[in-house]
Amino acid sequence: MDRAFDALFKQCGVIRADTIDEMFDIALALANLPLPQGNRAAIITNAGGPGIMAADACESAGLQVVELQESTQKKLKAKLVADASVGNPVDLLAGGQPEDFKFALEQVLTDEKVDAAIVIFVALIIINPTEVALKTSAAAQEFDKPVLGCFMGVQGVAPGIAELHRRRIPAYPFPESAARALASMMRYSNWLKKDPGATPSFPVDKDRAKAIVQSAITQQRAFLNVDEVSELLTSYGIACVKYRRRKGLAEIIQAAHELTFPLVLKAASSEIVHKSEIGGVKLNLQNVNEVERAYHEMLDSLKSKGIALEGVSFILQEMLAGGREAIMGLHAAQGFGTLIMFGLGGIHVEVLQDVAFRLAPLSSLDAEAMLSEIKGYPILKGIRGEPPVDLELAKEVLLRLSLLTQDFPEIQEMDINPFMLFPQRNKCAAVDARIRLHLDK
Ligand code: ADP
Ligand code: MG
Repeated sequence: MDRAFDALFKQCGVIRADTIDEMFDIALALANLPLPQGNRAAIITNAGGPGIMAADACESAGLQVVELQESTQKKLKAKLVADASVGNPVDLLAGGQPEDFKFALEQVLTDEKVDAAIVIFVALIIINPTEVALKTSAAAQEFDKPVLGCFMGVQGVAPGIAELHRRRIPAYPFPESAARALASMMRYSNWLKKDPGATPSFPVDKDRAKAIVQSAITQQRAFLNVDEVSELLTSYGIACVKYRRRKGLAEIIQAAHELTFPLVLKAASSEIVHKSEIGGVKLNLQNVNEVERAYHEMLDSLKSKGIALEGVSFILQEMLAGGREAIMGLHAAQGFGTLIMFGLGGIHVEVLQDVAFRLAPLSSLDAEAMLSEIKGYPILKGIRGEPPVDLELAKEVLLRLSLLTQDFPEIQEMDINPFMLFPQRNKCAAVDARIRLHLDK
């Protein structure tokens, strides 16, 4: 669930902090600074170690510590001591004076390749921290780019930090916290600039869907039966595998002649959640004899598990062999809205937990991001020379689910697992789905 929150927060522009400490660090930056317009950070320091630590922290937080422009490096070289590093981090060395901080900061902020700067000052007896703070803020005020301070040390540093804060430069005790705060600002800035994408609509048969939902609600049935599930999905343009629902063996055999082999036999009942766990799924049946044998084996298995046979229907489906299995679902989460889910499906979904979530309504960009976000995305794109599945179709099914949940808030939960994906659009279909309604609506 934690990953779901992460995705939702990202979608809604909520900045997530892992600790209270971090929350205040980020708030301090947001309250005082302009937002960075990109992710390229410059670091100015008077001590090499903390400079490198800051650069590493920036990189791992998603910022880039880019090489400064040549012209900037030249200007820095001309004024700073000969041994100073001018790439990035800019290291003024221990002799760096308050005036050097100002000069260096002005140069890096002028550089078009820099979106933000972190100024690290390690306290030295000979340099006055308050002076460094004053010079740093004087330079920062000339630009519309965020500058974060990091004044390290204990003795005598406090007045410098106070001076920074007075001049609206947030100061952090260590470079890592400054880097993390800046990275959060950068992500927020990206979110503000993000194209929200369009929420497409599709022609659907809303009346037919409404009749199904209404009739279940009138009968106070939370779970739709197999026929209703298939019809509801189909009315919203979500393909379902060709099937027949039957009761006894003779009916099943007859239905087998109406479908194309190979077939799949399944047991459906409100009691059964995971059919394959109780021997309720027989795959790849090549002929009527195999259907018959599968039926008898299934009956024995159901009996041995103590399942009431009166409530069981048998589903005969066409087998969609060789598809890549996806799970698509939705869940109306209290206080949140409806979450739409996409992931690699099948019987291992609980173990793999490779799923992406977004809040409805989905834009096309959301749907696209959901597909590419899961770890198993390369499997959908095809590995070892396999052709990719129809990703456009997968995206479309998510958008159609989003439309369905907007039109029918009565749907509390839905799981299509698996939805079989193929390179060919017309082969893709749901082979197992559950829909639960919220009866109080
Ligand atoms: P359950 O999830 O209740 O155990 P499913 O109907 O999802 O039962 O079937 C379990 C697995 O069997 C699926 O994940 C899929 O691998 C396979 N399967 C089921 N139906 C089909 C079908 N029509 N074509 C191909 N494979 C199928
Ligand atoms: Mg299933």
